Amino acid sequence: MSLQDISDRVRAAEREKGAPAGSVHLIAVSKVQPNERVDAVLAQGHRCFGENRVQEAAGKWPDFRETYDGIDLHLIGPLQTNKARQAFELFQSVHTLDRPKLAKTFARLAQEMGHCPEMFVQVNTGEEPQKAGVLPEDADAFIAEARALDLPLRGLMCIPPVNEEASLHFALLAKIAERNGLKGLSMGMSNDFEKAISFGATHIRVGSAIFGARVTA
Ligand SMILES: *Cc1c(COP(=O)(O)O)cnc(C)c1O
Repeated sequence: MSLQDISDRVRAAEREKGAPAGSVHLIAVSKVQPNERVDAVLAQGHRCFGENRVQEAAGKWPDFRETYDGIDLHLIGPLQTNKARQAFELFQSVHTLDRPKLAKTFARLAQEMGHCPEMFVQVNTGEEPQKAGVLPEDADAFIAEARALDLPLRGLMCIPPVNEEASLHFALLAKIAERNGLKGLSMGMSNDFEKAISFGATHIRVGSAIFGARVTA
């Protein structure tokens, strides 16, 4: 697969859904990928990328930003509170807001810095003990709490359990977003982004289908 192939498939899924062309944001997940592969995708004009670790992102994106304008960076992995300031400096969106302490820290930083990344609340739709995210039953209260802090909430994010039908999780996330008046839905990865779009995804996070398999140490 290539960026062009994936973009074509995204456009087709948008048409199928009846969503406006270009309304789904394709986040190219570049974590662990060699810089040459990331550079190749930048050179094709793509500007929207996702990373799951602040440290790794801090090591490579400032250099890419010297070469390419308009890079839109999304944090899609868990965030330690003590890295929040660094995340503020690097990312335009954070998809993993999932606890009051982090929400309060972001609110304080937003005051201090005069800007704030757009936020997605991560919901642990599969209620997996090892996974980050608020439980579905706690989502409404947490969303209200984040709003009371004036955080720029864009929507919700989920990572369905690997061995379950993703549709159920996409549908649940869409339902929670709708009843809370949130438009953004960050869901769908290499294997299921078309399905996610059919359930209303506005942001899909696609790594290996664009860059090839991740080389893990
Ligand atoms: C790595 C990652 C992705 C991309 O996964 P692929 O299967 O390579 O598309 C999407 N979302 C999150 C949160 C990830 O950590």
